[in-house]
Amino acid sequence: MAVPSFKIGEDMVVGFDRAKILELVDHRLIECEECGAKLRVPIDKGNLKVTCPKCKHVFDMIPQK
Ligand SMILES: [Zn+2]
Repeated sequence: MAVPSFKIGEDMVVGFDRAKILELVDHRLIECEECGAKLRVPIDKGNLKVTCPKCKHVFDMIPQK
């Protein structure tokens, strides 16, 4: 029996983990403008100040809908 898989952003989700899938679609993957690290940020929180966990660079995330 085949297991469905979903490609969401850069994440491959395999199976029926609905909570995980919903969590992923409510977020978007952005890149740190300093070091290019991939960050997952919620898209429903309006403008955010995002701190890169890798290089600690802080920048604004403006969701585009
Ligand atoms: Zn960074």
